[in-house]
Amino acid sequence: MQSLSNRSKLVSNKKLSFMEKLYIPVILGGMWITFKHLFRKNNTLKYPEETKKFAPVYRGMHVLKRDEEGRENCTACGLCAVACPAEAITMTANEREKGEEGLYREEKYAETYEINMLRCIFCGLCEEACPKEAIFLTDRIVPTNFERGEFIYGKDRLVEKVDARIDISARQFTGKRKI
Ligand code: SF4
Ligand code: SF4
Repeated sequence: MQSLSNRSKLVSNKKLSFMEKLYIPVILGGMWITFKHLFRKNNTLKYPEETKKFAPVYRGMHVLKRDEEGRENCTACGLCAVACPAEAITMTANEREKGEEGLYREEKYAETYEINMLRCIFCGLCEEACPKEAIFLTDRIVPTNFERGEFIYGKDRLVEKVDARIDISARQFTGKRKI
């Protein structure tokens, strides 16, 4: 039979020798392999006391950015939701009222904006699609929870706080994305 991978092996029907029937050499060989691992460097981490250093391109929890004046960048254009392959993003738009110029950068803004973190595959396509540099993926981890509803992240958890900005500049490779 032709093999696509050339890795197939013919199974041998050879009779076991006396030593092979004892199984002791094979058992000892296995124990030797286990013993050698006792002295090898441990590859596991004692999380959460120890954490692994993330790659600069790690894509974790999203942030909805504000501009230098603290106004929300998102204009609820919906491009991120359209680009999302997991259909994890939903939003409703509203028009900026007089007097809200300090809250929202443009005339239209996202009244609600939600990401279902259980659906999200952290592909980063929402970040790529956004024309307003409003949404970015960060190196923050989405915390675990026992309730499914807790994984629907609204603006209260996505929009960065005015007094606790999230610096994503080191993660953005092109000048276009530096904010
Ligand atoms: S990272 Fe990907 S899957 Fe997650 S919300 Fe953005 S586009 Fe959707
Ligand atoms: S995050 Fe960006 S792409 Fe998504 S609705 Fe807001 S402005 Fe549009």
